Amino acid sequence: MSDHILRLPNTVFTAVLDLGDPRATFPVFPDDLPVPALVADVDEESNLLTIEIVWPDGELHYDYDGATVEYHFHTAGGDASQSSPWPADVTTRILEWTRLFAGHVFTHFESIADQIESAAEWHDRGLPVFAVAGEPRVLEVLDVELEGDALTLPWLGAGTVGHEHNDDEPGDPITLLWDPAGVNPHIPIAKAHMDDAADEVRSVILPGVDLAAVGLEEHEVCAYLEGLYINDNLVADPRDVVYDAAILRIAGLW
Ligand SMILES: [Zn+2]
Repeated sequence: MSDHILRLPNTVFTAVLDLGDPRATFPVFPDDLPVPALVADVDEESNLLTIEIVWPDGELHYDYDGATVEYHFHTAGGDASQSSPWPADVTTRILEWTRLFAGHVFTHFESIADQIESAAEWHDRGLPVFAVAGEPRVLEVLDVELEGDALTLPWLGAGTVGHEHNDDEPGDPITLLWDPAGVNPHIPIAKAHMDDAADEVRSVILPGVDLAAVGLEEHEVCAYLEGLYINDNLVADPRDVVYDAAILRIAGLW
């Protein structure tokens, strides 16, 4: 049914951010090594920075809490290991670079997260550029491609609807909840999930649902739910896209 869903076009969004002047504090990723996949995230509750540097032949997993460092490696097969899959001199250089990168990201994470939240608000208002304000300083220009949302109609049936994410089930289903009285949507009426094999969102009306009472045709309920599914589960959050770009820019990999 997803072919009924209209998507807004992808757009380019420019975020001009203060990333803490990384080039003044540490070098770009060693350019004689293959370009790795790089993930760096701070858990806001534990305040722990987790970094993963990933090559086809092995990975470095590195945790930093502002005081203590813990790291281990993974082999090409995925097994965790205390010994490096790389020669000693390469391992030393990677660990030294990661120490500097981790220190920089840890110091600036909160500021970057705040700027990205503001950038997402500007994007939500339809603006194509966000620039952080303030004193003259080194800024980074990040041009990112953001996916278009699915165009969704408001709920045109009877009552009101809400929804519930069932992320522990395969295909990350979303259940559409309904309340004919328009107060507290709690009656499951339809369910959508991602069919990974078909690369398509599929939705069904749940057994026993009285569509006459709901006031919409089956395809209308399904289109509503599928649009919601696309926007909630499939379209990348601008925050994540800008954040990933910021992390790669700090590393000197983008
Ligand atoms: Zn690990």
